Amino acid sequence: MSSQMRRITLARRPSGMPVPEDFALKTGPLPDPADGEVLIEVTHLSLDPYMRGRMDDVKSYAPSVEIGGTMVGQGVGRVLVSKAENFAPGDTVTGMTGWANHAVLPGKEVRKLDDSLPPSTALGVLGMPGFTAWTGLRKYGQPKAGETLVVGAATGPVGSLVGQLAKAAGLRTVAVAGGPDKCQLAMDTFGFDAAVDHRAHPDAGSLRKALAAEAPDGIDIYWENIGGKLLEAVLPLMNTHGRIPVCGTIAWYGGMDDTADRLPMAWRSILVKRLHVTGFIIFDHWADFPQFAKELTPKVAAGEIAFLEDLAMGLESAPAAFISMLTGGNTGKQIVQIG
Ligand code: NDP
Repeated sequence: MSSQMRRITLARRPSGMPVPEDFALKTGPLPDPADGEVLIEVTHLSLDPYMRGRMDDVKSYAPSVEIGGTMVGQGVGRVLVSKAENFAPGDTVTGMTGWANHAVLPGKEVRKLDDSLPPSTALGVLGMPGFTAWTGLRKYGQPKAGETLVVGAATGPVGSLVGQLAKAAGLRTVAVAGGPDKCQLAMDTFGFDAAVDHRAHPDAGSLRKALAAEAPDGIDIYWENIGGKLLEAVLPLMNTHGRIPVCGTIAWYGGMDDTADRLPMAWRSILVKRLHVTGFIIFDHWADFPQFAKELTPKVAAGEIAFLEDLAMGLESAPAAFISMLTGGNTGKQIVQIG
């Protein structure tokens, strides 16, 4: 066990895509837990696209990270010291530890994990991203057998589970992913019926033709992870009464691109096709998490649901791994292994 607390802080607010200089590594003494708190040694840290938004000083659904503050994030680890009821040293737990090798958290904000599955699954397929896929597809995608679903970032933790759940519900599933290797992975590992490489299509028109070929009956559900060129390509292909769960717009997390000038033209598709377009933030749905865990945990344990994890090694690697993930450098759920 390290006797020092090490954490990655926000050194300055990024302009566009983050760069390594936007982060700083700070070292200090280990904090002492007060009554009701636990000291956790973090073994795995989750890196998620939403963290880019927390680096900006803008009003959003959650507060920004302050300059000099520890980058926000979920971790898993072991309890070292417990002054909270129901926790003992050695327990495997998860909570919002931040980008750090240790964290002190109130016991009521920490969840105990059973040791039957690797603890890192609590950050991906059985954690917030998996829960996002399960919730959004049921509530806002409303899949029906025989329909067609398209999802971008299809080999990531959200897209790969959306695809598998839709396939299990009897839909034709079309992946959009970056590069031929990820496209092959989408079909071989996650069971997509077809995959389209967005990098092979320089503009929305060309991408639309490729998608139309793989979705010959049109698109009933477009799971929106991306925005940008993909959204522009998809909208005219939507079927009447189609659904668009708006989960993320990662193509715009570094700033708007030139699609912003043309997208208002696509607004008409929403009217003409009577589309149901619903934005959702998973934090509004935590009450359903126990049902998700009950349903999905046995399927993951039995190997009926595939998932991939991309491990970066050491806390220092977090900024580079995060920057890389925002532009597709990850294959599967991006995790930093600390312990
Ligand atoms: P991923 O691990 O899949 O990582 C992001 C992926 O996005 C990259 O690997 C890359 O995949 C793809 N990508 C990046 N830029 C572009 C681009 N310009 N065009 C097309 N693809 C791009 O992320 P998650 O599965 O964790 O998250 C997926 C989405 O879900 C994100 O938008 C995220 O913000 C959102 N989200 C929303 C939540 C909510 O509550 N609404 C909760 C959780 C996630 P590739 O190499 O295949 O292009």
